[in-house]
Amino acid sequence: MEALVAAIDQGTSSTRFLVFNARTAEVVAHHQVEITQSFPREGWVEEDPKEIMQSVYQVMQSTCEKLQELRVDLSRIKAVGVTNQRETTVVWDKETGEPLYNAIVWLDLRTQSTVESLISKAPGRNKNHLKHMTGLPISTYFSAVKLRWLLDHVEEVKRAVERGRAMFGTVDSWIIWCLTGGRHGGVHCTDVTNASRTMLFNIHSLSWDQDLCRYFDVPMEILPTVRTSSEIYGHMSAGPLAGVPISGCLGDQSAALVGQMCFSDGQAKNTYGTGCFLLRNTGTKSVMSEHGLLTTVAYKLGRNQPTYYALEGSVAMAGGVVRWLRDNMGMVQSADDIEKLAASVGTSHGCYFVPAFSGLYAPYWEPSARGIICGLTQFTNRNHLAFAALEAVCFQTREIVDAMNLDSGGELSLLQVDGGMSCNSLLMQLQADILCTPVVRPCMAETTALGAAMAAGAAEGVQVWSLRPEELPHIQTDTYTPRINTQESEFRFARWKKAVQKAMNWET
Ligand code: ADP
Repeated sequence: MEALVAAIDQGTSSTRFLVFNARTAEVVAHHQVEITQSFPREGWVEEDPKEIMQSVYQVMQSTCEKLQELRVDLSRIKAVGVTNQRETTVVWDKETGEPLYNAIVWLDLRTQSTVESLISKAPGRNKNHLKHMTGLPISTYFSAVKLRWLLDHVEEVKRAVERGRAMFGTVDSWIIWCLTGGRHGGVHCTDVTNASRTMLFNIHSLSWDQDLCRYFDVPMEILPTVRTSSEIYGHMSAGPLAGVPISGCLGDQSAALVGQMCFSDGQAKNTYGTGCFLLRNTGTKSVMSEHGLLTTVAYKLGRNQPTYYALEGSVAMAGGVVRWLRDNMGMVQSADDIEKLAASVGTSHGCYFVPAFSGLYAPYWEPSARGIICGLTQFTNRNHLAFAALEAVCFQTREIVDAMNLDSGGELSLLQVDGGMSCNSLLMQLQADILCTPVVRPCMAETTALGAAMAAGAAEGVQVWSLRPEELPHIQTDTYTPRINTQESEFRFARWKKAVQKAMNWET
């Protein structure tokens, strides 16, 4: 019987559980549930950590039931990997096991004034002055400022810290702690990829940094232990998979890089989920961007394995804009409908939509930018708007690819893509058109979960999955080639850039 490996993929918009065949990488069974996002105030984005855990238990239970219906013995599952929305910040009480506040989601802007004040006090007002240690600019995006907000504003958090009962973690830490027993001996850990998104972690020494913790005034005793992305952290304490090791952990974008098998220097992938994240493997050296990209730990697949780094272009709003058109505007009933609307017109008719709902991330890093729609005429209808929303995702990716090319001094010859939004074929064709570069999508789009499963299956003490290049599974792909000429795409991109300038200076 071939071994199976499972992965929990806890994203911003949903939680999935997938079980893969460790030899062929085929999905044997899976289940997915959507997660509630709450927006209690302008710019605030929260999720309930208890709902997150309930969704994890629910997807595991339902997938196991499906496996039993298929007469697949659950004992064939040899390991579980975890991959997660990064940066999202949770603090809980280790004695009661209760979260002390909602999870503050990566998109949340409540720390904008803290960030502005930190930048104003930085030498030369330079938002990059911690970049040599963290790879990151000071921004609302990363966990340190979110944790600072919780320490300053939530009485329960303050009190739990004073009593030595507080635990901080990104979503991976919360999940692993709960699954390994929670207040009855749960393991409080994270992996190097998730740690590298907190701004408290030195990406060169691979450890929490005293100076960074002092700078953000964060008590080091509440931080999780940092482990590699592939090793046994603990075992499932209960449920249908009790006793199975949890042995893989990667932030979602790193997991997608592994799942797309971008193991060589220069290979890149773009994942279209709530946001959109292009990562380019830079091998074992950390490259600092001159063009607004981040430097991040890509993965370290085992204690004796080298650390790989990536350059990353992060876009805050991609699929999130489709969810907004669905939930806030009532324009579509489901995210899939957007493709039909946009395809019915095949053009935005000169309308440009900059969805800077959470400011603009790479390459601008401008938290005060806000969304705009411009170029409207009497003729514009919701179909054009749907098209403009999809085109916005492609333009934002084009900005990242341009920055990446400038940083690396070479042209990306094709773009490997994945993520929940990549099932939209019109979007994929538009992306090839706007980039003037072929776009290659795996037929199995769940590469994020696959990466976490590969890391779990390859861990020392599990070893049912080989990561040797010659033994990696072959994944079928679809290719989209550009259909418009360069002139046309440059014209549209130039208009987009004008719209971005307006989104950045909308108040002046
Ligand atoms: P995350 O990992 O951030 O939770 P997913 O990879 O699950 O995100 O992708 C979900 C996102 O993709 C949602 O924001 C949703 O609006 C968007 N999406 C899903 N299907 C489509 C589609 N057919 N066309 C456009 N957007 C889509």
